Amino acid sequence: MLTDDLLTRLREALGDDRVLTSDEDVDDRRHDYWVLSHLQSWRGTFEDRPGAVVRPCSTAEVQAVVRLVAETGTAVVPFGLGSGVCGGILPDRSMLLVDLSSMNRVRNIDEVNLVATFEAGVNGLAAEEAVAELGLTIGHWPQSIALSTVGGWVSTRAAGQFSTAYGNIEDMVYSLEVVLPDGTLVNLGRAPRAAAGPDLRHTFMGAEGTMGIVTGVTLALHRQPEKRTWRVFHTPTLAAGLDAQRQIMQAGWKPPVVRQYDAHEARRTFKPWSVKGQGMLLMAHEGPAGRVDAEVAAVDVLASSCGLTRADDEVGPHWMENRNHVPSWGEFFEQGLVVDTIEVSGPWTAVENIYDAVLADVGAVDGVVAVTAHSSHAYRTGVNLYFSFAAAAAATDLEGIYLACWHAVMEATARHGGGVAHHHGIGRVRRPYLVHDLGEAGVALLRTIKSAVDPRGIMNPGNLIPDP
Ligand SMILES: Cc1cc2nc3c(=O)[nH]c(=O)nc-3n(C[C@H](O)[C@H](O)[C@H](O)COP(=O)(O)OP(=O)(O)OC[C@H]3O[C@@H](n4cnc5c(N)ncnc54)[C@H](O)[C@@H]3O)c2cc1C
Repeated sequence: MLTDDLLTRLREALGDDRVLTSDEDVDDRRHDYWVLSHLQSWRGTFEDRPGAVVRPCSTAEVQAVVRLVAETGTAVVPFGLGSGVCGGILPDRSMLLVDLSSMNRVRNIDEVNLVATFEAGVNGLAAEEAVAELGLTIGHWPQSIALSTVGGWVSTRAAGQFSTAYGNIEDMVYSLEVVLPDGTLVNLGRAPRAAAGPDLRHTFMGAEGTMGIVTGVTLALHRQPEKRTWRVFHTPTLAAGLDAQRQIMQAGWKPPVVRQYDAHEARRTFKPWSVKGQGMLLMAHEGPAGRVDAEVAAVDVLASSCGLTRADDEVGPHWMENRNHVPSWGEFFEQGLVVDTIEVSGPWTAVENIYDAVLADVGAVDGVVAVTAHSSHAYRTGVNLYFSFAAAAAATDLEGIYLACWHAVMEATARHGGGVAHHHGIGRVRRPYLVHDLGEAGVALLRTIKSAVDPRGIMNPGNLIPDP
């Protein structure tokens, strides 16, 4: 429980209406979009809630809040819009939840240097729309763009659907403003590039609220592309499609959208256009018209040399139109199903083995009715895989089956040399598996950094970093 004294001092600092304590007021901030929290809520077994929610409107107010909690040793959990899917937000009554969504101003858009500065709570779509009015784009299009904040993107190391050309969030962050766990304000990033010691911005990218509170984010922008066009191919085998992707990336072409669906997903997602037993590779090409034309011509040759055949390019605009429509978890629970997605990545030489092992191992979990995958982010060095699974069972078993599926994906990925987290972050669900990416020494180093930055351990305890 938070003390009355702390609540009084928070009200003095922020005003009464910015400190929320009733069940009703905190209800929609009790957890993020993690399936397991939703399953428990749906069953009525989810009991925790934050002791209070504060809604600061400025960096100075965030500092005031953090100084108060630092003084009292109270734990704080930053909250953007709660679209995280890994259990990064699970406060109990001893904790204060800091909702950043009232920090929603666009501070500046610089059309010459192509940077824009946002308060951390700016809604992602609002941020993109603000720069789009000036003919610019951030180029960051997570499926959750309308459900997430700029500060949340940074804190989870998010990736957007156009990442292959525009990069992931770490490629866009120009500078960060962060309130440290003692209330100190730090500004990191002054110029387009620096050799000024280790890049401290990375301490906070992907920290998931464990190192401080991001209050301001400056992102590097792009001018909107002159031309966009689509190319879609049938992939006779997974290997053929991956080979085409690898060759396209390694030749230096940069289609922003590169998505390869296995045969199951091609059928499920693009049935009227798909060929039974074959997958699909879908690409958007955009940029200066001359470059787009050259890229399309080169991609046609490379794809054909890998045995791919042209599909109807209408699949591209169809995907674009429908790409952010996803059913709610509740709709699946009603049918006795638990469904989730897990994104991992691997070097080109490992990715087929990861795919095969995950399909076999998850498929062997009792109750699993489907496991499929697509790739959605390609690099010169490898590619991600985005698995979807569905399990049906007696309602009481769903939680165990769900965790068994996660375990199978994490272990199979690590066993075959992949990385266990491509873009959703770690949260609670992946915390036991972080060691696969960092190693024991890396996890120990992360704990050392955490205890130096946050010696009292008040920033989002229980999240991301495994216990010793
Ligand atoms: C339908 C759907 C589709 C999605 N698609 C994508 C996708 O395409 N790509 C992708 O990368 N992710 C995707 N996600 C996951 C999620 O949207 C991202 O992780 C997003 O970046 C989270 O933003 P948020 O503002 O909602 O953060 P929250 O969920 O509120 O918080 C996420 C974590 O960051 C911390 N945090 C939030 N704000 C701050 C801050 N200002 N300072 C410090 N810590 C903070 C929280 O404590 C928490 O640990 C999707 C989620 C859903 C539900």
